[in-house]
Amino acid sequence: MNTTLGLRKFLDDNPQGIATIFGDRQRTWAEIGERVQRFAGALHGLGVKHGDRVAVMSQNNDKYFEVYLAVAWAGAVIVPLNVRWSQAENEDALRDCRASLLLADDAFAAMAQALSQTIGDLPLVYMGEQSAPEGFADYERLIADAAPVDDAMRQGTDLAGIFYTGGTTGRSKGVMLSHHNLMLNAVNSLGANLMGQGSRYMHVAPMFHLGNGGVMYANMLLGGSNVMLPAFTPGAVAAAIDRYRVTHIMLVPTMIQMLVDSPDIDGHDISSLEQIIYGASPISEALLDRAMQRLPGVRFVQAYGMTELSPMCTLLRPEDHLGENRAKGRHRSAGRTVATCELRIVDENNNPLPRGEIGEIIVRGDTVMMGYWERPAETAAAIVDGWMHTGDGGYMDADGYVYVVDRIKDMIISGGENVYSIEVENVLAQHPAVAQCAVIGIPSERWGEQVHAVVVLRPGADASPEELIGFCRDRIAAYKCPRSVDLSAEPLPLSGAGKILKRTLRQRYLDAA
Ligand code: ATP
Ligand code: MG
Repeated sequence: MNTTLGLRKFLDDNPQGIATIFGDRQRTWAEIGERVQRFAGALHGLGVKHGDRVAVMSQNNDKYFEVYLAVAWAGAVIVPLNVRWSQAENEDALRDCRASLLLADDAFAAMAQALSQTIGDLPLVYMGEQSAPEGFADYERLIADAAPVDDAMRQGTDLAGIFYTGGTTGRSKGVMLSHHNLMLNAVNSLGANLMGQGSRYMHVAPMFHLGNGGVMYANMLLGGSNVMLPAFTPGAVAAAIDRYRVTHIMLVPTMIQMLVDSPDIDGHDISSLEQIIYGASPISEALLDRAMQRLPGVRFVQAYGMTELSPMCTLLRPEDHLGENRAKGRHRSAGRTVATCELRIVDENNNPLPRGEIGEIIVRGDTVMMGYWERPAETAAAIVDGWMHTGDGGYMDADGYVYVVDRIKDMIISGGENVYSIEVENVLAQHPAVAQCAVIGIPSERWGEQVHAVVVLRPGADASPEELIGFCRDRIAAYKCPRSVDLSAEPLPLSGAGKILKRTLRQRYLDAA
C-alpha cells in the first residue's frame, strides 16, 4: 500500500468526482490524475530519482495537493517546509535532507531564488499563479510538456516523506515516515469516522504540517473533495464553507478561538459543516464549550498525536463530548487510542504506572516513525524497545481515556511542586475577559521557577493582573496560581502550525530581565 492508492482508485471509480477546489478552479480526479502522471514524468525529466527528496515551500493550494501525489507517483520523497521558517531555517532543512529540487509558490518565490543561490545547484520549480520568475522551471509548462508515467509503486516500507516537527520546543527534527505509516494513519482515521464518503474537506490548517496531512490522506482514500484556503482568517473560512458547502475541517485551537470569537462568521451560511477535527495543541474546556455553543449541530473530534506518530494516536469522539461521557469529564481528555496504537504511562525508569498516575506517555505500533532523518542518537533516545517516547506528560483513567497534562518541557517546578501549565491556562481561560493565555515558568530565587502568565484580553474587555490572579486563587491551589501576569497587547507568538511558542515567551522574559 502506498500514498497514491486513493488517486489510483478514484481514477477508476469516480473520475468525474471533484478532487480539488481552489478559488474559482475545480479539478476532477481524472484531471488530477493526468496532471500528476505528467508532473511525475517531469520530475524524472528533471533528474529526480527514486528516494530523492523534493522540497515544497508553499501556502495551501491545489497544486500542493498534486505535488504530494506526484512526488510519490515518481517514487521520490516529499519534504514539506514550514511556512513560518526564516530563510536560514529553510536553508538548514534543505541542506539537512539534501533536497534535489525545490518547489515554491508566489509567497516563497523570492526566498527560493535566494536559497538556490546560497545552496547552489538546487533546481527550482515555480508553482505560483503568475508567469515563472527567472531561474525557475514552470509547473504548468512542465505538465504540458511531459509525457505521463506509470506509478512508481514503491514498497509500503519505503520512505514517503520527511516531515519536520513543529519546532515548538526547539529546533525541528526531520521525521521519516513510510507509505505504510501514513496509510495506516489514514485507515485509523477512517475507522474512527474522521471522514465520510463524499466529504468536502477544507485545508486551512497548513498543508506542510501533518496535523492537516494526516486528515488529507484519509480523505483521499474515500475520494473526497479538497477545498484549499491559502491563509486563515475567520471571515475567509466562513465564506469558503458557505460557498463550497464544506463538510469537514481540521483546526488548531488558536484557529477555533479566533473563529468563534469573531463576528465575521455571522452572515454566512455554514450549515453544511458537519465535523470539526481539532488538535495539535491543548484546548481549554472554556474554549471548547464556547465553540460547541457557537457552532451547534457540528460534531467535534479531538486528535492527539505527533509528527513522529504519523501523527494520530488518540481520538476523542463526538459522543465523548456529550451527555454521560461529558458528565464523567471525558471531554477534558484526548480520548482513547486509535485502532493500531498501544499506549502506556511510565515513570522516569520506564516502569508502567497505575491508572490515574501522571507520567510520560509512550506509544507503540506501526504508525511510529522510521526514525529521525540522519539522527541515530536522537532516534535511539526517542524510540526505546519499540516505544515512542512522546515527551508529553499524562495519565490514563480506568476506561482508557488519556489525559494530556503538559509537555514535560513546559512543566513548572515551583517551590518543589509540579505545576502543569495547561491546568493553569484552563482556569485563566474561564475568565470572561481572557481571549488567549500562556503559562510559563520563569526563574525565581525563592521558588526556583515562578508561575507566570501572559494574557491577551478580548477586545473591549478589561481585567487587571491582580484580578486574574485572584480568579485563579478561587479555583486552584495557591502554589499553582500565577505570581505574575503580563497583559499583552499583541497576540501571542505562534508557530507555523498555529501553536503558542512558549519558548519565545520565556526568551522574551529573559531578554527583558
Ligand atoms: P517540536 O517537536 O519540534 O518541538 P511539536 O512537538 O509541536 O514541535 P508536532 O509533532 O507538530 O511538533 O506536535 C506534537 C505535540 O503537540 C505533542 O507532543 C503534544 O505536545 C502536542 N499535541 C498534539 N495534539 C495535542 C492534543 N490534542 N492535546 C494536547 N497536546 C497536543
Ligand atoms: Mg514534538
